Amino acid sequence: MSNTKTIKLHFGMPVNAEVSTNGGQFGAPRDKGRRSHQGQDFKAPLGSTVMASESGIVVYSGTREGSITRTNYGETVVIDHTPEAGKNERHIYTLYAHLDNRNAYEGHEARKGEKIGISGNTGMMAYYKKLKQSFHLHFEVIDSQTELSWGYSFPTGNRQDPMDYLGLVTIIEYSLSEFGEKMFMV
Ligand SMILES: [Zn+2]
Repeated sequence: MSNTKTIKLHFGMPVNAEVSTNGGQFGAPRDKGRRSHQGQDFKAPLGSTVMASESGIVVYSGTREGSITRTNYGETVVIDHTPEAGKNERHIYTLYAHLDNRNAYEGHEARKGEKIGISGNTGMMAYYKKLKQSFHLHFEVIDSQTELSWGYSFPTGNRQDPMDYLGLVTIIEYSLSEFGEKMFMV
């Protein structure tokens, strides 16, 4: 018997919309270069269906409101695509932000392609909110070597370019000594 377990993740498009290249790509400068864009934006008009990029467990569904001077995520959903992995093993999450409405509760087992919300411009700075072009889906991939907790303060770091995951197969190998801690608790 093998002492490793392999998981294959195949991330699909979170919305049927074009990717934004003009400042909406991963790593684009923000705040005059003091930080960089942590996700990929999609040019999704208000009300577009937002889908789970891959199957997983919804670990956050809530509101992170912005202000007049600073954009935040707004209505946000986060999915853990590696819920069976242990605390000290690799976890891959996807994050969907600025939603107009969320259709997923925490703990929900989302299937790939399932509707988890509709796109909007919540959490955007008031200035941008007035502009119709501020409607878009902000999509992040968080690829972490440990489990993260999505509570009042969100974890930072571990963001990767979503374009390196979309449409591709991501393979993760776990050693069975740690893997399955949770699996066998049911
Ligand atoms: Zn964005």
